[in-house]
Amino acid sequence: SEEKSLNFIEEIVENDLNSGKYDTLVTRFPPEPNGYLHIGHAKAICLNFGLTQKYGGYTNLRFDDTNPVTEKTEYVNSQQEDIKWLGFNWKNELYASDYFDELYAFAVKLIEKGLAYVDESSADEIAALKGTPTEPGQDSPFRNRSVEENLDLFTRMKNGEFADGAYILRAKIDMASPNMLMRDPIIYRIKHAEHHRTGNKWCIYPMYDFAHGQSDSIEHITHSICTLEYVSHRELYDWFIEKLEIFPSKQYEFARLNLTSTVMSKRKLLQLVNENLVSGWDDPRMPTISGLRRRGFTPKSVREFCERIGIAKRENLIELSLLEFCIREDLNKTANRVMAVLDPIKLVITNYDKGTEELIGENNPEAEDGGGTRVIPFSNELWIEREDFMEVPAKKWFRLAPGAMVRLKFAYIVKCEDFVKDENGNVTEIHCTYIPESKSGSDTSGINVKGTIHWVSAQHAKTAEIRLYDRLFTSETPDAEEGDFKEYLNPESLKVLSNAYIEPALAEADLDGRYQFIRKGYFCLDKDSTSDKLVFNRTVTLKDTFKK
Ligand code: ATP
Ligand code: MG
Ligand code: MG
Repeated sequence: SEEKSLNFIEEIVENDLNSGKYDTLVTRFPPEPNGYLHIGHAKAICLNFGLTQKYGGYTNLRFDDTNPVTEKTEYVNSQQEDIKWLGFNWKNELYASDYFDELYAFAVKLIEKGLAYVDESSADEIAALKGTPTEPGQDSPFRNRSVEENLDLFTRMKNGEFADGAYILRAKIDMASPNMLMRDPIIYRIKHAEHHRTGNKWCIYPMYDFAHGQSDSIEHITHSICTLEYVSHRELYDWFIEKLEIFPSKQYEFARLNLTSTVMSKRKLLQLVNENLVSGWDDPRMPTISGLRRRGFTPKSVREFCERIGIAKRENLIELSLLEFCIREDLNKTANRVMAVLDPIKLVITNYDKGTEELIGENNPEAEDGGGTRVIPFSNELWIEREDFMEVPAKKWFRLAPGAMVRLKFAYIVKCEDFVKDENGNVTEIHCTYIPESKSGSDTSGINVKGTIHWVSAQHAKTAEIRLYDRLFTSETPDAEEGDFKEYLNPESLKVLSNAYIEPALAEADLDGRYQFIRKGYFCLDKDSTSDKLVFNRTVTLKDTFKK
């Protein structure tokens, strides 16, 4: 990636460092602890932490916790875990709520400068005077209160003398500004609510615009990076910093990540959780970092994805398949190849009289260290996939059918001699003979077969539950559809196969293990697993499934 051209934020940072504008680059990642982090946040994390990894300096983790109602310590903890899992370390763990005293003092300073006032108009009255983007607004009747009166009312707001909504504090800027956000924005509101860190100390809370830039400034953040929705907030960001005469942090905006077939606002993800439409924030179908982790994604694959999508100034929509590409690329090199039969049917080898035999399987021919080998038990009764047998074979069918031959992976060539059906006409057993001279690695049979299938020895197999996932939404853009986004949930996004058979070696699987189930995809153990009941998630299918 040395060769890669700089993104526009890297260009700004390089210029600012080269010109001596700043000696030390300081960025921050500022999540609101009102939900679990998602893949969109991963993009912002990789950008902010990536800049200081590349150019030196440091990145703070600042919880933007100025809204007492939606924030929880559970979310603070999960967000920290997810950032660490992605592979990043912050310099300081900070909370906007730690700045409540300073922010209050900033508000007092604005009042003293004649740049803020207490308004007791109702929300409707304020809206009515706000104007429209093409028409100027009008001054509130309370705009010209004296400094003394404003200080007195603001103090009483803080002291809890008034009910929620009775008074607000507004910046006194310009009711005719073409930027609606500059028309005397609200900067403090009364909210009698307990805060996850400050408890009941405060009953007034700063609005986002009054908290964010000043928090950046307090921390001497040099480049405050946010998404494009905040472009129009920049003027206000700069205004507060200028009027308060504090450290001049600067805001830069980039295009947020939008991904097909998913939703990505915490508010919407919370609805899915609360309405039990998924099993939790870490449901493997969720675009959350915890969901991706449980699904089997690696930190490296998520970072690679963020690198590939790049940093742009215009909104775009990224295909979910790019994320899948990134995890396949990683797992192809690292995941051991094993055998698991998801939809089993019995195969009996009628002429095999050796009892059991230990075969040797290659773990991963793509691994950088060669991958090593493992022992795979073989016997006369195997499980194979139901779909690998056809009673009446299609054209170009190279797998099992009456009279047809196929290779059993790592083992022998077998020939289908017969099959058994139950009273409903379903095939229940396939009878084969094997060619003793055709053993993989020492085949002297001279027989060529086109198909190779996987299997597990019935007497050695462990049973497992396998969970297969598909897109969570049927629409590529559920956010943009008519009606509620939840109407576009994919009813088939989870398929549970409760009677799969796996190689005995997989009984040793742990939560960090990643496996390629030959021909079936990449899988990992799920946290629901117990020693009695193994549960595997399919992370992603294989790109090159065997041609059917
Ligand atoms: P959400 O609607 O999902 O809650 P948010 O922007 O309100 O998103 P924050 O917790 O405030 O969530 O976000 C923390 C940081 O992550 C912000 O700097 C924000 O710009 C960034 N971020 C959030 N969503 C995305 C996204 N889809 N793509 C890139 N960055 C994002
Ligand atoms: Mg936000
Ligand atoms: Mg939000």
